[in-house]
Amino acid sequence: MIRCPRGTRDFLPDEMERRRHYEGILRDVAHTFGFREIGTPIFEEAELFIIRSGPNILDELYGFKDKGDRELALRPELTAPAIRLFVNGMSNHPKPIKVFYFGQCFRYERPQSGRYREFFQFGAEIIGSATPETDAEAIALAVSMIRGLGLTDYRVRIGHIGILRQRLVDAGVGKDDMAEILRKLDKKSYDEAEPLLEDAGVSDADIADIFAMTDGTDGIGILAGIAGEAGDHLRSVLSCLRDMGVRDVEVDLGVVRGLDYYTGIVFEAEAPALGAEKQICGGGSYTLSELFGGEKVFSTGFAIGFDRILLALEKEGAVYEADGIGAYVIPASAEMRTRATEVTALLRAAGIPTDTDIMGRKLAKAMKSASDSGARCAVIVGAKESEDDAVTVRDMVSGAQTVVGIADLADFIRRP
Ligand code: ATP
Ligand code: MG
Repeated sequence: MIRCPRGTRDFLPDEMERRRHYEGILRDVAHTFGFREIGTPIFEEAELFIIRSGPNILDELYGFKDKGDRELALRPELTAPAIRLFVNGMSNHPKPIKVFYFGQCFRYERPQSGRYREFFQFGAEIIGSATPETDAEAIALAVSMIRGLGLTDYRVRIGHIGILRQRLVDAGVGKDDMAEILRKLDKKSYDEAEPLLEDAGVSDADIADIFAMTDGTDGIGILAGIAGEAGDHLRSVLSCLRDMGVRDVEVDLGVVRGLDYYTGIVFEAEAPALGAEKQICGGGSYTLSELFGGEKVFSTGFAIGFDRILLALEKEGAVYEADGIGAYVIPASAEMRTRATEVTALLRAAGIPTDTDIMGRKLAKAMKSASDSGARCAVIVGAKESEDDAVTVRDMVSGAQTVVGIADLADFIRRP
């Protein structure tokens, strides 16, 4: 038996309906913030992702050569494609440009719960603006999306890459050691960071101070003591967020993320209930367009791991009730089949999701199909009612039967 490839999933109708429901909520929230959707190809020139993330990305990339010898790759993320789209076709649109996207990404990873080789991201980018309001807008959208889905147990941590970098520079860390040390601090691997800091000549007092700064406790208090532009910027972002009613965010100056291309604000959201794979959203401000042949513009964006956030909702016991169909039409006898087909067509034209028997089943069996279909009501087309241009509507929950004229049928069924 052939199965879907390792790390990928099939979605059966119930699951697909649930996914579309939540996807719709995210799209609606993005619209309420004035963002517009974009679409980009599933595969791109591999170079695009290498430029953005460095050659290490090749380990995760589904890369291939096409018949014209082009080096292509299935997209592992959507920020680089979004910025490529901006450089190619939107660079002279009025700024800021506010776009969002939803689509699958591919990474060659070790599959586990919440980690797949094909997964979905819902993300947004604000392109061409670098104000604190820009960052606040992006973070507020991310938080509103998470809340909009109904998730209650989540944490949002905001940092500023410039504050930690500056602190490390002040403590004597040179360019060559910076990336490695940041990586350890990002993971809060202090045992591994300590010898690196010592080797870089950082004093014990500074090391203790740097660890306290990045451990995520009392971020707000520590931020209050930080002078300079980066500190001011982060304080302004927090103040904007408060104005927008977003107060449940934490300051964590240890948030570093992808390291190389973020320039200012960095933020992450997590759902603690998910354990190891708990990060449900990551973002920050960056510049990328100049690497793709455009002019340099500042942007802020984020991506929500759609599959993970759905897992988190499930863990919280959120249940999605499928809508089901409105009506299941059944001919009471073989002679009434044509009439039943006409009634089906009429209800469908009226926008009511309607199903009918297409397997020539007799009344009792067709009633069973109606029940299996999850329809709210069965519409039984009998000879006697037909003479009066009517049908019998059976409420599938209460079992109550009503004779309803064809002219009123759609309205009758639509009524809750
Ligand atoms: P992680 O540290 O968990 O690998 P990441 O830093 O690689 O995450 P990003 O590149 O920031 O993740 O992607 C944004 C979001 O996409 C993540 O926060 C996560 O929710 C989700 N995500 C990333 N990789 C996967 C995957 N393989 N399967 C499912 N979701 C993923
Ligand atoms: Mg990863």
